[in-house]
Amino acid sequence: MDPYAATLEHEQVLVRRGERSGLFTIVAVHSTARGPSLGGCRMWPYDDARAALRDALRLSRAMTYKAAVADLPLGGGKGVIMLRPGTVMTARRRRAALEDFADTVDAVNGAYLTAEDVGTSARDMDVIASRTAHVSGRARRHGGSGDPSPSTALGVEAAVLASLERVFPGGRMQDRSAAIVGLGHVGLRLAKLLARRGVTLMVNDIDPARRMDADRLGARWVTAAEALTAHVDVYCPCALGGVLDHETALGVQAPVIAGAANNQLASDDVAALLHRRGILWAPDFVVNAGGIINIAVELTGKGYDPKRARADVRAIAGTLEAIYDDAASADVPPLTAALALAERRLAQALRADGSRASDLTRTTPA
Ligand code: NAD
Repeated sequence: MDPYAATLEHEQVLVRRGERSGLFTIVAVHSTARGPSLGGCRMWPYDDARAALRDALRLSRAMTYKAAVADLPLGGGKGVIMLRPGTVMTARRRRAALEDFADTVDAVNGAYLTAEDVGTSARDMDVIASRTAHVSGRARRHGGSGDPSPSTALGVEAAVLASLERVFPGGRMQDRSAAIVGLGHVGLRLAKLLARRGVTLMVNDIDPARRMDADRLGARWVTAAEALTAHVDVYCPCALGGVLDHETALGVQAPVIAGAANNQLASDDVAALLHRRGILWAPDFVVNAGGIINIAVELTGKGYDPKRARADVRAIAGTLEAIYDDAASADVPPLTAALALAERRLAQALRADGSRASDLTRTTPA
């Protein structure tokens, strides 16, 4: 079962043409079984409205699984502001688009909480907050949890350490090596965290300007293909999704794969292929939940507490260990065990709220 499938098993999907910007804004609420749905607002150019809607549908569904596995009192949702390819976004147009999106968020009455995502920033959340209360991840000076990337990187580090411990029990980090692809907001922070632990690094980014960062870290600069097939202990995809397909998965030599990128598998059966090859693939939506876990701390109503946020994010290690245990005892890939955990938690929430006639726990895509 693909957690990223674009299905219509949603509680509600609202598509509106903004009266200020003329742009389509979309809010997809996949599930509120465990709490209000949370998911970032993606402002991105799409060729047509179907592609934008598809993105909203698949990403909101993935958020349901991510929040459930992290055991957060949140459901899954996603927002999209559909830009037209080639449109130049002046500051005025951008503001108009964000205000239109805020009205769409407000129209679902708290079933969806927005946050930053690809194409939006904490500053944009402040604009959205001028028209709706249903915003998270605002700048720290406004009492929010701010940029989610440091928390995401901390969570990926915890996942890398837990996965290495599984494969090399009792080993020292100074004896370990990692290949990181994508030195962006998350990847570069991860590289710094691992370098601090003495891990030997090789890195790659399509942006050659990142080579300076690599030099500063003492990391070896390689091509993406070399990183993928390197004889390292862990391969960390931290750029775009879809890097692991039936071909590339056969080339991986690292015994562990754990990285920040969303949607790493081109299709679900790649998880089984990696499992058969004896490679431990840490499910991406478990590994990269640090950002949403951080936001959940902001939403407790007790004010954002960075210390608690760090502790909660590090708990990703324990979640992964439990998933690895379940997977080992059933001899299934960790992906299967992670999805089963999410399904159990969703079913539990729906049982606790027996009045809901939802069939969200169905595994057959609608
Ligand atoms: P980012 O845009 O800051 O960094 C991505 C980096 O990858 C960039 O430096 C880019 O040049 C590089 N890149 C892109 N394509 C590449 C390729 N083909 N080969 C090599 N390098 C390439 O993004 P980010 O915020 O660091 O997020 C990285 C990944 O983690 C994304 O998949 C994102 O969806 C996921 N993620 C991020 C967060 C977060 O808090 N930022 C949370 C969850 C998941």
